[in-house]
Amino acid sequence: MSVKKFNKVLVANRGEIAVRIIQGLKEMGIGTVAVYSDVDRTSLHVMMADEAVFIGSAPASESYLVAEKIIAAALETGADAIHPGYGFLSENGPFVDAVEKAGIIFIGPTAESMAVMGDKLSSRRKMRASGVAVVPGTDEAVTDPEEAKTIAEEIGYPVLLKATAGGGGKGMRVVGEPSEMASALRQTMGEAGASFGNDAIFVEKYIVGPKHIEVQVLGDGQGNAIHVFERECSVQRRHQKVIEESPSPSLTPELREEICAAAVQTAKSINYRGAGTVEFILAPNGEFYFLEMNTRLQVEHPVTEMVTSTDLVRAMVKIAQGEGICYTQEQLHQQGWSMEFRLYAEDAGNNFAPSIGKIVALTIPQGPGVRLDTGIYEGYDVPIHYDPMLAKLIVWAENRELCIARSKRVLEEMVLHGPVHNLPFHRWTLDQPAFVDGSYTTGFVGDFFDGANYLPELDEGQTQALIAAASLFEAMRRTESTECANNESDITGWQLSARRTMTNNR
Ligand code: ADP
Repeated sequence: MSVKKFNKVLVANRGEIAVRIIQGLKEMGIGTVAVYSDVDRTSLHVMMADEAVFIGSAPASESYLVAEKIIAAALETGADAIHPGYGFLSENGPFVDAVEKAGIIFIGPTAESMAVMGDKLSSRRKMRASGVAVVPGTDEAVTDPEEAKTIAEEIGYPVLLKATAGGGGKGMRVVGEPSEMASALRQTMGEAGASFGNDAIFVEKYIVGPKHIEVQVLGDGQGNAIHVFERECSVQRRHQKVIEESPSPSLTPELREEICAAAVQTAKSINYRGAGTVEFILAPNGEFYFLEMNTRLQVEHPVTEMVTSTDLVRAMVKIAQGEGICYTQEQLHQQGWSMEFRLYAEDAGNNFAPSIGKIVALTIPQGPGVRLDTGIYEGYDVPIHYDPMLAKLIVWAENRELCIARSKRVLEEMVLHGPVHNLPFHRWTLDQPAFVDGSYTTGFVGDFFDGANYLPELDEGQTQALIAAASLFEAMRRTESTECANNESDITGWQLSARRTMTNNR
């Protein structure tokens, strides 16, 4: 395969991941193009890129999800390739085909790999055929409650009804006994049809008290694949990850070797190209099963980068340039421990409801072993249209105990005012015995978290100090918001001119 070095790459995403990819491209000496919707004019990724192209109004269906607009932006700016990040069009096979048809390189896998892995049933079938264990269950869609009950009897209750096109923890329902089946099936099909435009459902065994373990892989699309070790992502709310760590505290060296080998086998079975993640569920008895493969860069990729001294964005770009995998399996080792805390604009005390607002104060902690991947800054307005993740705080230390100690220090130092956010939830987690000893499962939040009582109790002095600080903060916020309102156009102008200067200086 011939090597084609990129001069310019368009990043078809926003927020922290667009920033992360732009940073990686800059370090490789590659020119960068951002795309943005009208509410993202002053976003960090727009300011950081060499060029930026406006692609439409705020709803993603009118901007970040419109393949034609993204491809037109790439052609207009002369970009050689497109990096999709995660979410949006990153796992959309027809988008990959359209990009390639336009003569642009897609930094990621083939549309064919996406088609196999994007559907939970077809990926189950493929894995079963390749000899990778899948969760006990069906390989065919079910619509009839009686049939679903027969299957459930065979595999044993509880079972999980899952949407074949599901993602982001949506389209799943646990069924504990036969009497619940009919209504659960109807509801899950309805939800799946509405969310994914496909109401196909299948039944699998619901594993009680499992751990979510996933393996980072890299493939060259020529039959070669390696793993970059595992991550554990068992701290979840609504089946969605909030804290990830690497290594996993739950694997013995033998189990690690087995699970990583299964991931490589998965990648090889579809001749995978690019960076991907093979997700497994680890049962309490030590058995592990294939869950799904995410055919893209993962939100939690930084913990892998921290413990293996790799740069996964760089690796993806090099594979797309035809240079193959830039690491050998033998070169890769896990060193130390890393944890990632996803900072969401959400209220853990109110069932993790999303929140919005202006970031009025932000202090980013510093010191050894700290990385913040972020798309926000002081004065930034968190829009309602997208995922409420603000940033990711990533910590590294020599071992797990030190990583927890450092994470506590870092989470204490971080100041974030504006929308309601989940920093207090992370602080709470680090004090939980089940987290500290590594025994936590995907049931951790459900088992231990009490939204009404998780904030530490304050004594009289602390309460008074807090009231004083809150009123001072409120007064500052009022002044600030009037200033911001007056200077809004100036801020935009400054930011745009900063970007223009950067473009002109290249
Ligand atoms: P999505 O594509 O929506 O992310 P996944 O299949 O990856 O869905 O599952 C997301 C999470 O749901 C897992 O990390 C796990 O916590 C839970 N889960 C999925 N399948 C099972 C199962 N069979 N038994 C128990 N928990 C499961």
